[in-house]
Amino acid sequence: MTEVKELIVPRKATLRDAMSRLEQAGLGILLLVSDEGVLDRAITDGDLRRLILAGHGLDETIEVLPAARCITAPLGVTRRAALELMNHHGISHLPLVDGEGRAVKLLMRRDIDEQVLLSTPHIGDSERDFVEQAFLTNWIAPLGPNVDAFETELCAFVGSAHGAAVSSGTAAIHLGLRLLGVGPGDKVFCSTLTFAASANPIVYQGAEPVFIDSEETSWNMCPKALERALATAAAEGWRPKAVIVVNLYGQSADMDPILDLCTSYGVPVLEDAAESLGATYKGRQSGTFGKVGVFSFNGNKIITTSGGGMLVSDDKEIVARARFLATQARDPAPHYEHSEIGYNYRMSNILAGVGRGQLRVLEERVAARRGVFERYRDGLADAGLLEWMPEPDWSFSNRWLTTATVSPSAAHDSAGIIKRLAGEMIEARPVWKPMHLQPVFAGTRYFTAGNSSVSDDLFERGICLPSGSNMSEEQLDRVISTLKSLLR
Ligand SMILES: *Cc1c(COP(=O)(O)O)cnc(C)c1O
Repeated sequence: MTEVKELIVPRKATLRDAMSRLEQAGLGILLLVSDEGVLDRAITDGDLRRLILAGHGLDETIEVLPAARCITAPLGVTRRAALELMNHHGISHLPLVDGEGRAVKLLMRRDIDEQVLLSTPHIGDSERDFVEQAFLTNWIAPLGPNVDAFETELCAFVGSAHGAAVSSGTAAIHLGLRLLGVGPGDKVFCSTLTFAASANPIVYQGAEPVFIDSEETSWNMCPKALERALATAAAEGWRPKAVIVVNLYGQSADMDPILDLCTSYGVPVLEDAAESLGATYKGRQSGTFGKVGVFSFNGNKIITTSGGGMLVSDDKEIVARARFLATQARDPAPHYEHSEIGYNYRMSNILAGVGRGQLRVLEERVAARRGVFERYRDGLADAGLLEWMPEPDWSFSNRWLTTATVSPSAAHDSAGIIKRLAGEMIEARPVWKPMHLQPVFAGTRYFTAGNSSVSDDLFERGICLPSGSNMSEEQLDRVISTLKSLLR
């Protein structure tokens, strides 16, 4: 925001004065005020040029300017409202006036039109080279050397034996469920606090989801709730075909008790690590704990191929079958022979090139996202009204998104804060709406550990803050200072 002292000219100023003032201020605009200091109109380069072309002399006063309505806004206007006003009137400057109509500040479009987004792609230095290589060798078709290398490199990083690169994380979950034998009539347990893509593939397979509550300590699947669900099922004489454990916002679930339970009940685990690539659980990479692990490279994730996913497993046969099904289930025959229904789910060689470049900066991205979290934590420590998503001592989160719950004693609830931030062109979001609350899953069974639902509370009070690894210091300061003013 610019102070207006330098821009203000009185009516008695000459054309010459005005022109030299315009030149000094260098903003292409002056503000004409009355003797009482009230804003009359704005004066642009063009206004002065037109006076001269009409034959006015440089020593005449600018009173010769015709009256014109000046678009202004009150001092407390939000960025978004100011920008909408500028767009509506096709202007790039907006004087802000006090209660008496005196100009106090000048907003310029270039100072306010930047939106702070939740999580944006952050490309490194080598993605372009890998993609270029694909063009140079004409490996544009799906599959190719980048795909093979991306699979090998990602598996080496996470410590998984095999991986199949596919078109999305959702596709990887779908393949994973099918390979774990999930089919019509089966039931599959799934973390309730997650994005719909964790649960939708259960329905693709004609199976039925059963949702499991979160624990407060990690926000992820509560082992006690899982135990209750497994015991209830056993007492009723059935067993889920698989358990989908989601690692939310970059943090692993408490895998040991979950895996113990699943092993003792004989149920395989599919680990939805779409958000947790680069995080660890007790020192081991997230996504490598289940029979099948799934990563996503969607545009908002910690690394991206613009769209893509990977299914990993230590079971060679599972990954080979995933590749087969993902490539239209073509039997090995010279003609087109199919004995199963397949999918077109493979990743393209071009996108895998982006993935290879992104993998090289993954650890930097994790450090940057953790750094974003630390900035928020330190910057808002004295506001004291946000409770950050906890990071238990067994967890090393990638802090994909900085998330918190808003204290009930704060001046605004999470919905109010999100709305206020939106007014300042800062994108914040609620925590995922639990699946058991989704209209599409109405009537689905849901297990909590005790009488209350942790995920309901997290949804009601939760907030996700802008967390991109490429956020600037200025952007972080902007979010922090806006939050401070709201929470106080
Ligand atoms: C993003 C995401 C997915 C889906 O991944 P896509 O690549 O977008 O299909 C699945 N589960 C969770 C938890 C996610 O955040």
